[in-house]
Amino acid sequence: MTLARVGILGAGTMGRGIAQVAALGGYETRLYDAYPEAVEQGSIELAKALAKGVFRGRWSDDEAAAAVDRVEPVAALAELADCELLIEAAPEEVELKRQLFSDAAAVCGPETVLATNTSSLRVAEIAAGVPGPERVIGMHFFNPPALMKLVEVVATEESSEAALAAATEAALAMGRTPIRAKDSPGFVANRLSRPFALESLRMLSDGVAAAETIDRIVRLGGGFRMGPFELIDLIGLDVNLTIARSFFTQGGEPARWRPSAIQERLVEEGKLGRKSGQGYYAYGDGIEREVDPELGILAPTLDPAKLALVDPAAGAVLSRLFAQIANEAAFALEEEIASPEDMDTAMQLGFNWPLGPLGLTKKIGTRRAVELLVELEREEGAAYAQAPLLRRAAEQDVELVEAKQ
Ligand code: NAD
Repeated sequence: MTLARVGILGAGTMGRGIAQVAALGGYETRLYDAYPEAVEQGSIELAKALAKGVFRGRWSDDEAAAAVDRVEPVAALAELADCELLIEAAPEEVELKRQLFSDAAAVCGPETVLATNTSSLRVAEIAAGVPGPERVIGMHFFNPPALMKLVEVVATEESSEAALAAATEAALAMGRTPIRAKDSPGFVANRLSRPFALESLRMLSDGVAAAETIDRIVRLGGGFRMGPFELIDLIGLDVNLTIARSFFTQGGEPARWRPSAIQERLVEEGKLGRKSGQGYYAYGDGIEREVDPELGILAPTLDPAKLALVDPAAGAVLSRLFAQIANEAAFALEEEIASPEDMDTAMQLGFNWPLGPLGLTKKIGTRRAVELLVELEREEGAAYAQAPLLRRAAEQDVELVEAKQ
């Protein structure tokens, strides 16, 4: 299939960003929204973002002008009839997305690929009832699409290779890095990042260390750009809690994905993070928290001598965190949600992790991870139950990938 025209459904935060990378990638890009004022606003914001990119040296004046020319705001779905690829970035409601794809299918050719940017819905659920469900796939961009390189190309059991190949080709042309993901709860990056927040919250509630200490250890010893609590404050505690609840329900309520009681309480109290002035930290006049870029140690480490310089609790905090990251990676590998290489790429590009989960598993070692999880399971319960693959790897004293073969 020759891909030349891309239609974007929904001109909000994600839609306009995706339209921007599509136009910069050389595609004739049509921007559609159910509300004409949203198309207008989206086009204005898109042109502004392209101009800003020139100012920052990201692309030339000519490239920005050519990209603006390639974007056509449209008021009716019928104007997308000749697009080979439609990317939907409408509100996160399954019925709305299904209807939108059914309406688009009625005006487009049978080959048109229908890609949804959903982050939390099952792609197969959106595809159900849409004419030609084999051309329905996921194309999960990260926010902001113009800066985040990762695109998860999500395959349902029915998705055709042709549709998946077209999405991969388009993502590459847009300057993104596509990975292949299975249609499973939260796909790859959001799922593999579960322990980063949840294990940190459990450590806080167990009194292992204060939020500020955990953040400092994760930055200095773990090599992460932000600590878990700084990140949750930035995202919003309510947003993070909604994601946690969605995973818990969709995953069949596994103990390791149970939302944190501390976070539930803070949200009830209206402590939502930066946006409300109070989360795990206080924000307000004169309390602007800036992460010092010089604070990060170059590589994640569990070396006791180095960690002793960071904090007395550093070894305990990072061991628990890496052990749960290894555990989630093992569950995910066994479910084959993505290849091991794609899992590492997802976390490095989607969340700026210093290493992917398999790289972090190597740091702790499968044997040590299991020993620690067994001990924690005894003391704390089922949230630490080990993935069978992790146990097998520990018994053989090998990496997860070797145990999987
Ligand atoms: P948004 O609210 O900023 O934009 C949604 C747009 O869709 C609005 O402009 C709205 O007018 C339009 N819309 C409403 N009904 C429509 C319809 N029937 N047909 C066409 N357009 C319609 O939302 P967003 O943050 O851009 O999110 C869009 C999608 O992307 C959601 O599925 C979301 O889960 C997903 N996503 C969001 C992020 C993020 O960080 N914001 C990241 C990844 C994925």
